[in-house]
Amino acid sequence: MAVGVIPLSEWVKSYDCSAITIAVVASHSSLQILHGARQEGFRTLGICVGEERRKMYSAFPGAEPDEWLVLDDYKQLMDYAEYLRERNVIMIPHGSLVEYLGPKLFQELEVPTFGNRNILEWEGSRERQRIWLESGGCEMPKVIDDPKDIDGPVIVKYAGAKGGRGYFVARNFRDFRRNVDLEEEFTIQEYVLGTRYYFQFFFDPIPDDGYQVEGMGNHSNQSLGRLELMSIDRRDEANVDEFYKLGSLRDLRDMGLEPSFVVTGNTPAVLRESLLPQAFKLGEGAVAASMELEGGGKGMIGPFCLETIVTDQLEFRVFEVSARIVAGSNVAIGGSPYSDINEPGISTGQRVSRCIKKAIEKDRLLEVLS
Ligand code: ATP
Repeated sequence: MAVGVIPLSEWVKSYDCSAITIAVVASHSSLQILHGARQEGFRTLGICVGEERRKMYSAFPGAEPDEWLVLDDYKQLMDYAEYLRERNVIMIPHGSLVEYLGPKLFQELEVPTFGNRNILEWEGSRERQRIWLESGGCEMPKVIDDPKDIDGPVIVKYAGAKGGRGYFVARNFRDFRRNVDLEEEFTIQEYVLGTRYYFQFFFDPIPDDGYQVEGMGNHSNQSLGRLELMSIDRRDEANVDEFYKLGSLRDLRDMGLEPSFVVTGNTPAVLRESLLPQAFKLGEGAVAASMELEGGGKGMIGPFCLETIVTDQLEFRVFEVSARIVAGSNVAIGGSPYSDINEPGISTGQRVSRCIKKAIEKDRLLEVLS
């Protein structure tokens, strides 16, 4: 079933909104989602494969789900849609859910899901992300179409290589040829030298106060909703982060070593405060442009992340957008220097449940689901 024909309003009409259950696949950012849902007074349900995974959650009673759905395979979730709807479930999507189901099944899952699943069409391809982000005023690293044109540092990225695995840096065509796997689909991007910041924003279409996103195109002169900065992180990447300790790139290459970009964890970051207005402009542009994407439906709703590099000219380049909660927000499970200003201790996971709770109170739940 295509997303466009999902009878969301019929499902939600039959829901008892005083007994909503927040469900999540037990992985990725589920601790904060489950903990946050409980803080907002919702019942919770964890989904996992095999019994083993459950044990870890007993170490975190504050996040332990009220109920578990244990499957043999994540794809079985498709057969449990009715079971979940009978429990008034709202599914909170994250990267692992999308990866385990695959984009197609995720879009076909017949359970009300927080955020906008249609945006996946735009988020899932580098070319479409570029059209989206550039139309929102975000400057992105240049793309080099012909490897022979490499005349400075570039990063070569493989399609679908989640978490940076297999990426490599090349200074010239020779480097490129030596390292590339021509069997794989790849993109060559200008290597932007600077400092990385991953912004965890939250866009809530319901409130009319705070930092309001101004619409563009068909939504010009409209305030679309409130943009919040929940936290900032930076990824720990093996081995590039520690490479400099071993000598110059040339020495390392002589030893047969190449920098790699495999994500192993995250650390919290704060941005030079005078750069925050620019960061908000990027977030605002990404949200406003998302509302104009063909087939993009309601645009971006809820948590999203802009992955950026700030150069020594204090200019931002955005190299990726994630249109749902990212694992980097786990640095702020107990709040961040930014979210704490507005409400001490609030995580992105709790912010999701808050958004659902307020939408129910205002009888606008359909606007934040797909
Ligand atoms: P994910 O989907 O998990 O976010 P990914 O596999 O799509 O990751 P990217 O986020 O695009 O990978 O890049 C992985 C890492 O490579 C980044 O975290 C960053 O350190 C580095 N990187 C990516 N693009 C650039 C660039 N243009 N210049 C410099 N470094 C880059």
